[in-house]
Amino acid sequence: MNDISRTPVAPATLPVHNGDSRFHVRRVYCVGRNYVAHIREMKEGDERDPPFFFQKPTDAVVQPGQAVEYPPETSDFQYEVELVVAIGKTARNVSAESALDHVFGYAVGLDMTRRDRQREAGKKGLPWEIGKSFDQSAPCGEIVPVSVCGHRMSGSIALSVNGEAKQAGDLGNMIWNVPEIISNLSSSYVLEPGDLIYTGTPAGVGPVVPGDVILSSIEGLPSLSTPIVARVP
Ligand code: MN
Repeated sequence: MNDISRTPVAPATLPVHNGDSRFHVRRVYCVGRNYVAHIREMKEGDERDPPFFFQKPTDAVVQPGQAVEYPPETSDFQYEVELVVAIGKTARNVSAESALDHVFGYAVGLDMTRRDRQREAGKKGLPWEIGKSFDQSAPCGEIVPVSVCGHRMSGSIALSVNGEAKQAGDLGNMIWNVPEIISNLSSSYVLEPGDLIYTGTPAGVGPVVPGDVILSSIEGLPSLSTPIVARVP
């Protein structure tokens, strides 16, 4: 029997740091290739290309500390630590100068990627969907309001697996900074409260396997622990 009249699944929310409120997620945008060192390690793209965006489904958001199942259809499941911008005010075609007025807060996030599927799709000129936009592909930490953490324009961004350092960079090395990303994205879409923007990853991406624990951190924000577990058949 079909089950189309079941109770709707509650939309994704994330905890707000030091508060009892939740951030209600509307859309999840991601920026591709936003740190020069990562573009070089991937050996693709031009370092001066304008930013480009893709989306993940809202229900791909994974709660802070929650485990991620190793996904199907890959043998190269990779981490990408990223600064996440949480939008708090409607942004429609805004300038970079006024873009930060629309930010509610920031978090540490992971753009989990089926790298083999992403590369195959790229070679064939196909969408990145299968490599990027799948179940549990968007772990995110607690959202810290700007009133607490200020705007995160520089500071270390790092990731370790089982205590071993893998990724390291500085937010100040983004090719397109947060105001430019918001301005650019808001010319293609109306941004609304609840939108998250993953802002790209520094160098050092690599694979994980079940049993690994990823620790993602950004200076000034609570870090994010993400255990990888075997897929339930
Ligand atoms: Mn990414």
